[in-house]
Amino acid sequence: MLATVFLTTVLAAAPARSPATADDWLITGVTVIPTDTEEVWPQRDVRIRDGRIASIEAAAPKPRARGATIIDGRGKFLVPGFVDAHVHIATEAAIHARRDPVLATLPFPEDRSYERQILLSFLKAGVTGAANLGGNAAGDAALLQLRDDVAAGRLAGPQLFVGKRIDGPRDHVADAPDTPAPASTPEAPTTPADGAAAVREAARRGYDFIKPYQFLDRETYRAIVDTAQALRLPTTGHLPELDCAICADRAFVFAHPMTNIAHAEELARYAQTSDLSAADVDALTEAVVRARSGVTPTLITLKTIVLQYREHQAPAVPAGWETLVDPLTQRDWQPPRNRYLSAEFRAQPGMERLPAAYDFARVLTRALWKRAVPLTTGTDALMPGLLYGASLQQEMRELHAIGMSPLEVLRAASLNARRLFAASAGSGAVRRGQRADLVLLDADPLADIDNAARIAGVFVAGRWLPITRIDAELADLAARNATLESVLRAADAVR
Ligand SMILES: [Zn+2]
Repeated sequence: MLATVFLTTVLAAAPARSPATADDWLITGVTVIPTDTEEVWPQRDVRIRDGRIASIEAAAPKPRARGATIIDGRGKFLVPGFVDAHVHIATEAAIHARRDPVLATLPFPEDRSYERQILLSFLKAGVTGAANLGGNAAGDAALLQLRDDVAAGRLAGPQLFVGKRIDGPRDHVADAPDTPAPASTPEAPTTPADGAAAVREAARRGYDFIKPYQFLDRETYRAIVDTAQALRLPTTGHLPELDCAICADRAFVFAHPMTNIAHAEELARYAQTSDLSAADVDALTEAVVRARSGVTPTLITLKTIVLQYREHQAPAVPAGWETLVDPLTQRDWQPPRNRYLSAEFRAQPGMERLPAAYDFARVLTRALWKRAVPLTTGTDALMPGLLYGASLQQEMRELHAIGMSPLEVLRAASLNARRLFAASAGSGAVRRGQRADLVLLDADPLADIDNAARIAGVFVAGRWLPITRIDAELADLAARNATLESVLRAADAVR
């Protein structure tokens, strides 16, 4: 049933294929990189059936398909699907909900082509899982629906993990304790009771994790982290503000740690000094190790912000991805909408130290890796300059550049994120019985991490999408962007 829906909605242009074989595949003669071991297994026949890896066996001279469709894996490499542990997905509902008179009336096509382009962009890069770190309420409702549509096979895309962002009112922390606290609500809690209620409500609505944000006071932050832990919801977010009467202090935060910290520069903020020394790196690393938190460094995010600060323009996207910067995104990445190119952004105190912050984040990430802190690959896409999918490949190179081996980068991009967001659903390694989220590569990623971008095709939940099919779908969707562009141009001309 799933296969039928999938074929009609996603592969409408594909030649007819027997439903009996649609979910049954045999990759022959492939080199398997299971990733949860140092081992590499050359010459394997890998059977994918009903969404799972059914078997991995020594390659037979004449493989017997037994009803499966054969994929020639000779000369190719099979690795776990990648996960972007930090994205912000712009659903159509979220775009409409922005306070922008043009966007409020923008007529998106009814075939959800905008969202399909996002999902396919991830797959094009081998990203079979993506965690959304919170947006607005309208966007969240649409995103939970999108997650369920993907899970049910109605749309082809990565498995989505949807986070609920919980933050207090910024003024409450900034002005306390002289001003009275604003009325506390679960949407902007300033009491532990409302913080806990916000987490329970998120669990009830089916969110996959909680994103605490930085303007929570000490006790509300603690209630959120404790409640999430009791409900077995992971927490990944920003560290609370420091240094006010109702704010957390560093020791308190690490005594009540989140499962994962959303950016390495969050930790830099916690160094509480303008000159970060080796001792600061050691102290912060030690605090993270003791707290048993993971970290998503998002080095490419900071690097891209620094590039914009230096060069006064959004950086070019990697070659081959240009047509995937849709007109709406192009508009958001240019002034006046790109805040990283604004005068206000540049005028913030301490901005001249921004380039140094990237260098520090790299040093800190390296220290965390040396102490075996579980790192994950995250990008903050769709921030200016960072496309869905392409940015994950960029972050893998960033982690390799600080000294991590290709195998360690692959682990950060797959196993570590699975452990963070879906711990009970298996390891995500290329092993019998695991969910078949896999990437088939044309070249060895252990020889050169750049080869992790040489994608022959992906399996998402056991369904095979060759890169040729993904590219053809994306080309078709990009053609529809012309309509979007003319609407935007006309609307901007009127104003
Ligand atoms: Zn973010």
